[in-house]
Amino acid sequence: MNGLMQQQQLLISSLLTHAERHHGDQQIVSRRVEGDVHRYAFRDLVARSRRAANAMTALGARFGDRVATLAWNGYRHMELYYAVCGMGAVIHTMNPRLHPDQVVWIADHAEDQVLCFDMTFLPLVEAIAGRVKTIKHFVAMTSREHMPASSKIPNLLCYEDLLDAASDRFDWPVFDENTASCLCYTSGTTGNPKGVLYSHRSTVLHTYAAALPDSLNCSARDTILPVVPMFHVNAWSLPYIACMVGAKMVFPGPHLDGKSLHDLFESEGVTLSAGVPTVWQALLAHMEANGLKFSTMRRTVIGGSACPPAMMKAFQERYDVQVLHAWGMTELSPLGTACTLKAKQVELPREERYAIQAKQGRVVFGVDMKIVDPDGKELPRDGKASGELLVRGPWIISEYFKGEGGQPLVDGWFPTGDVATIDTDGFMQITDRSKDVIKSGGEWIGSIDLENIAMAHPAVAMAACIGARHPKWDERPLLVVVKKPGAELTRDALIAFYEGKIAKWWTPDDVVFVDAIPLGATGKMQKNKLREQFKDHRLPTA
Ligand code: ADP
Repeated sequence: MNGLMQQQQLLISSLLTHAERHHGDQQIVSRRVEGDVHRYAFRDLVARSRRAANAMTALGARFGDRVATLAWNGYRHMELYYAVCGMGAVIHTMNPRLHPDQVVWIADHAEDQVLCFDMTFLPLVEAIAGRVKTIKHFVAMTSREHMPASSKIPNLLCYEDLLDAASDRFDWPVFDENTASCLCYTSGTTGNPKGVLYSHRSTVLHTYAAALPDSLNCSARDTILPVVPMFHVNAWSLPYIACMVGAKMVFPGPHLDGKSLHDLFESEGVTLSAGVPTVWQALLAHMEANGLKFSTMRRTVIGGSACPPAMMKAFQERYDVQVLHAWGMTELSPLGTACTLKAKQVELPREERYAIQAKQGRVVFGVDMKIVDPDGKELPRDGKASGELLVRGPWIISEYFKGEGGQPLVDGWFPTGDVATIDTDGFMQITDRSKDVIKSGGEWIGSIDLENIAMAHPAVAMAACIGARHPKWDERPLLVVVKKPGAELTRDALIAFYEGKIAKWWTPDDVVFVDAIPLGATGKMQKNKLREQFKDHRLPTA
């Protein structure tokens, strides 16, 4: 017997309709590429999204076609999120920090029809315009007065002109909720980038789950500033969550330095933010140097790489901002786990609470996870056994776009490539990415633990731990460190800092000081580059 409930397709356009009806006057504030601050209300977002849908239709974009963006976090990008998905086309958010060759490869692979871009990326678009095979229209996301006088791009269109010429009446079509909505490519550190194609259903379900109190904890009383870019897995769903819960949105545009961010947090009363650890480092350094505080910020989501406990402490103890450590992947839309305490843990001694918070957290309902040994046998959830992390659920990939990379699932589970433990309370902790794990004498050493300890040293700005070749042990940990400006630190002092904090044989064999650690397109440390750079490093223990 079936239940007698209504069958309604879960569509992204329904988020927009909801926001218009119930949060029409809520604000969206954007620092623009043009330099000024723009503000309007959700009802303006909805009206302009309808115009944008008409404009894209007029350019020939049809159901299922890909419309690409190269854009910062801002209201025009948000309009395109909703307009393109709402009309049944697919928004393809490209990462502008990629090499032009990669952008061409991705645009061709996605068969993008239209490319909308922020003016910052004009040189990039000029570099690729003559090379991409399928893009018919290039749209500069700006107004007439900011259009370049001349450009190497044939028939360059102006976004505001297109919207002015379009009607603000558009009936969002109703279609199957499994229709594709959004396409994101993974960074492709190994092999070609792979496309992850979300559906309306997966996006709406993920949005519900991500907004929950023990997930990102978002409400109509929040002012949310996503530092995480809208080209990095949908800014972790925050532009969708904003419409679902009616939160005020604040977009930083291209201005991501510590000062610009802090100014915006203060002037707009931001309560919640989100980003990768490297962004927060710059903000914290700026605040420390200038003796600044937050007046309204209460929570920040940190994920994308492990959040060093020293950063957590700085946020919580010095600035009264609660850190929400979260783990996810492009293939997971992205949210998998978030770290919030259970009732019985709230009163634990401070250091015990920090030890829990350093974990990546508990699964959000909808995500099922397990760890397995190299033979695929499930390992116990005892907080000790560590193995490859596998996940499944309705917002987790089933296969990559165009079948790239073959069939990714193993018995219906997606292997994440992360190595983790799961404790009896269900808290998952990543010890490493499988390709970053250091294999010393047949045993694994988790690089994240070693980096976290280094980051707790007051003279360390950034630390990466990689496996260096060793004649006896195969690999031994080598610590690559960027010192804070003006700080004094020696190799021996840093190695001594590990004493008593970790099993003795995990202690790094050597430390090298560098000016900078290479960061990838989403702000993560590129350990593959470091491994290449230090492949001939001679350890003193060798
Ligand atoms: P990529 O970095 O490969 O482009 P993603 O942005 O999807 O792709 O990154 C996913 C990976 O980032 C995860 O598999 C994991 O290794 C790492 N990651 C994400 N969040 C965390 C976290 N909180 N702690 C440690 N690692 C994390």
